[in-house]
Amino acid sequence: MLEITVTSPEKTMALGRQLAPGLQPRDVILLDGDLGAGKTTFTKGLAAGLGIQRNVKSPTFTIIREYQGGRLPLYHMDVYRLEDGSGDELGLEEYFNGDGVNVIEWSQFIADELPSEYLRIIFKRDDAAGENQRTLTFEPHGAHFEALVRQVEADSDE
Ligand code: ADP
Ligand code: MG
Repeated sequence: MLEITVTSPEKTMALGRQLAPGLQPRDVILLDGDLGAGKTTFTKGLAAGLGIQRNVKSPTFTIIREYQGGRLPLYHMDVYRLEDGSGDELGLEEYFNGDGVNVIEWSQFIADELPSEYLRIIFKRDDAAGENQRTLTFEPHGAHFEALVRQVEADSDE
């Protein structure tokens, strides 16, 4: 487990960018935390780190947005509005077994449909400490994601 506290949206994006080089096809990254905690901001950095040029927008109303043109495709999902159990209709399985990186906001809504290995990042605000402060907690599940988190930790020490 790794905890990093940042003080600006730019620093949250920088963490997303740092994660990108180690990502592989079929990776699943879960972003959890309240509305406005910084999940989409982090994804913008991750997309930039994959070399995706398009501006990443919140997929809240579309549920899934796909971004091509980077080192790997990015499948950015926000499953907040997904009806219970309708992950099947969405074809989540196909995305998880595809050739891209899966980033999922509000993954608690599809807890039953997640693969066994993933990286969960929990975003927390602390308004008492400052309105731009966020603490990100990285919880890797599986050896590949443990290695990824060690890399982020090494980068953030520099
Ligand atoms: P979420 O996807 O979790 O709902 P967003 O990334 O869409 O959150 O929004 C986060 C909002 O908080 C943005 O308006 C952003 O500018 C602001 N913000 C302030 N400080 C930070 C920070 N350190 N990290 C991320 N976002 C921040
Ligand atoms: Mg969002």
